Amino acid sequence: MPELPEVEVTRRRIAPVLIGRTIARVKTTAQSYFFLTPPSRLRRALLGRSVLALARHGKYLIASLDDGRELLLHLGMTGQLFTSTVYSPRLLSATQRGALTPGEQQRFRPDAHTHLQLGFGDSGPELYFRDVRKFGKVRLLDRDTVDPRLARLGVDALAAKAEHLFASARGRRVPIKTLLLDQSVLAGVGNIYADEALFLASIRPTRAAHRVSRVECQRLLSALKRVLRRSIETGGSSINDFVGPDGQDGHYQDERWVYARHTQACKRCKTLIERIVLGQRSAHFCRTCQK
Ligand SMILES: [Zn+2]
Repeated sequence: MPELPEVEVTRRRIAPVLIGRTIARVKTTAQSYFFLTPPSRLRRALLGRSVLALARHGKYLIASLDDGRELLLHLGMTGQLFTSTVYSPRLLSATQRGALTPGEQQRFRPDAHTHLQLGFGDSGPELYFRDVRKFGKVRLLDRDTVDPRLARLGVDALAAKAEHLFASARGRRVPIKTLLLDQSVLAGVGNIYADEALFLASIRPTRAAHRVSRVECQRLLSALKRVLRRSIETGGSSINDFVGPDGQDGHYQDERWVYARHTQACKRCKTLIERIVLGQRSAHFCRTCQK
């Protein structure tokens, strides 16, 4: 599932393609739970508009349109936002992939999973939003309306202060990992980076949130920002379906300390990394390094 770094990587690469260009063609698939705004209305509203800015809050992208409205984009579990110039084997079916000769690159052609296609008034690349499982979301927000999903979000994890995390953890008996994943506390943190940050801060994911000290909260938040920034630098993680908007895979997964490394040795102390289930999510940690 794309987390904050993957969404930020997407934002940085998509922004130059989107900002300042006039939308001249809008194609959608049929109405489905992917569309929080009916596709017919979306097509009418986007035509002729241009995007002034592309912001991110947590895992949401927010495009500001020149008529004061906003287009909300969420990648969900398997959403891919990219341009018509990319080449990536991750965008091809297994059959197409098998048919490629070594070294051959095949350009993506919009398919049944390409729910939104934007073409522009110039001859430049188109923008595609593809999502095989349709847990992604698109919504058009009228001027002065607030999306309830955005309203519920806490401060973006990269902008958060340690004192905020410490205050949020007071009186909370839930595991600290569960608190980190709570989007109303810190927006954008998902399973991978929560596990990584807890390892770097030497805190076990199961520890009750209220037992994490102020100093440890400082260490945890600074570790969290460090792994998020490092992942953005390396293009995100391509553990699941994430493909960078330029078709490149991210490389953060090569640097993981604990996430999905269970039964492998801790890179610090050689103890075997454990995997447990915590709040219906997997958690990975080193029993020796994390207390
Ligand atoms: Zn260890």
